[in-house]
Amino acid sequence: MTAPPLISPTRIYVEPAAAELPRGRAVLDRFPDAERVEVASHWRIPELHGDEANARRWVRIKREALVLGVKKSLSARPNGRSAHFIAPSTANGCAMACAYCYVPRRKGYSNPITVFANIEQITGYLARHVARQGPMTTPDQVDDRAWVYDIGENSDGAVDALVSDNVRDLVELFRGLPTAKASFATKYVNRDLLDWDPQGRTRVRFSLMPERTAKLLDIRTSPVARRLAALDDFVTAGYEVHVNLSPVVVHDGWLEDWAELLVALGDATSAATRDQLAAEVIMLTHNRALHEVNLGWHPRAEELLWRPDLQESKRSEGGGVNVRYRSGLKRALLDQLLSLIATHAPYLRVRYAF
Ligand code: SF4
Repeated sequence: MTAPPLISPTRIYVEPAAAELPRGRAVLDRFPDAERVEVASHWRIPELHGDEANARRWVRIKREALVLGVKKSLSARPNGRSAHFIAPSTANGCAMACAYCYVPRRKGYSNPITVFANIEQITGYLARHVARQGPMTTPDQVDDRAWVYDIGENSDGAVDALVSDNVRDLVELFRGLPTAKASFATKYVNRDLLDWDPQGRTRVRFSLMPERTAKLLDIRTSPVARRLAALDDFVTAGYEVHVNLSPVVVHDGWLEDWAELLVALGDATSAATRDQLAAEVIMLTHNRALHEVNLGWHPRAEELLWRPDLQESKRSEGGGVNVRYRSGLKRALLDQLLSLIATHAPYLRVRYAF
């Protein structure tokens, strides 16, 4: 039996202004059989919210609903970890359903993909922003010589590419910007991207975690083995390929599982891939509200994610309660993983770990 597609929109919620733009028309033409529902604002679509504990319903919304809007305010925010700047989003939401997902759920728990149709405005803004920076002259952990722009803060670019050409347009924009690079993290292998000829100006960061944990937590994503098998192909196609070892979830046997993954990473990659590879390592941060939602539909995930014996809580800026591994303990756990990397993947430069 073949798995149902990740996305198969049967209903598109569309702002009139988005429908008039060429990208909006292209998305509507791509799914001609989908019902169109006009909405005044992509922010206010109450029927997408609904019952958080009804996993079957919100997964169906992820597959069947698409939102088409216009991104109003454009700005590139300084970052300094994954990238120098966070580019204005060309999409938000996600068709996947990771149990620990920290991407803001702006459209309820289903949080289906919203595509922004004013891509020409966004690429124009970015080109001017890059020009204003001038050359990048001080190498740092983000990059040696390019300003790096994260183009996927609020979505997964490889999945967004299933519904529009926005990500392709960004890859093509950065191909012509010798002082800058695009970058996005993904948990989905979309081989259409292999034909885009990025010429080294786009960095794809494949997220990896041990398969046993991913099966429980990385819901609707590409299996880790498929992500590993894609790394060489993306390098050959002209992408810079990095890995995000994240989130790192501590449980019985976690170090053995990570050792196995690091060995598999070496086995899956050519010398050329390993030479250019670098990693971000990010320990799990979880959230009380998400914990409570998850208990209703996926309690086994919470056995791994919610560990009051190891975690401390902190009130977030938004007023919620985040939990993370206790600070002294976290440092020790990170050091254990970094030493595992040094043993099993000595070629892997860790750009940052926290
Ligand atoms: S792929 Fe990323 S954005 Fe999508 S559900 Fe998983 S963590 Fe969230």
